[in-house]
Amino acid sequence: MARRFAGGRLTVASHNSGKVREIRELMAPFGVAVVTASDLGLAEPDETGASFAANAEIKARGAALATRGPALADDSGLVVPALGGAPGIHSARWAGPGRDFAAAMRRLEAELADREAELADGADRRAYFAAALALAWPDGHCETFEGRVDGALVFPPRGQRGFGYDPVFVPDGHDETFGEMDPAEKRAISHRARAMRKLLAACFDGSAER
Ligand code: IMP
Repeated sequence: MARRFAGGRLTVASHNSGKVREIRELMAPFGVAVVTASDLGLAEPDETGASFAANAEIKARGAALATRGPALADDSGLVVPALGGAPGIHSARWAGPGRDFAAAMRRLEAELADREAELADGADRRAYFAAALALAWPDGHCETFEGRVDGALVFPPRGQRGFGYDPVFVPDGHDETFGEMDPAEKRAISHRARAMRKLLAACFDGSAER
């Protein structure tokens, strides 16, 4: 049985405004008072884990200790099997300190083209977004949930909505990229939404369907 969130303030341990916006919207029906790591001036811990889940737990535990209250963290990224899983847990790092995702998407296109040149029947353009959400308490207890959404990569990037790699990702069953899609539609199917539905069902009172 998962530990439940007892109400009150929840710190979202992220400095990424795109992620924070989506997390706030996903939690809106639960009436939780959300503050962010940026609001509180918390430092960003080094993401030294080898998986999305491990990095989400590092961030959530660090923020729970620093605030002496429950904290939620997301670690996520784009996984391209044809590139051996890259950029994966290094998705943010591919954009560099200036968070230049146009450059990160160009790198993705170039690495796929190199891979295609190596393979007789072309490189697979399949990809998925993965997210791990960790909810931690100051005593070190942590509940972690994962979600993913499968799709394909398209170039050039399309759409100004969303953030990060959204403009090059078309989820299965859709024609628009996450960058073109209505945010509510992304929210219904995204990796983050899938992980969040599991977390809300396990740790929060009420139903995710509210
Ligand atoms: P981190 O979890 O803060 O280490 O960084 C995750 C990175 O993965 C983000 O900076 C984005 O580059 C990428 N990413 C994660 N989720 C999404 C998404 O929903 N859309 C687009 N890019 C994403």
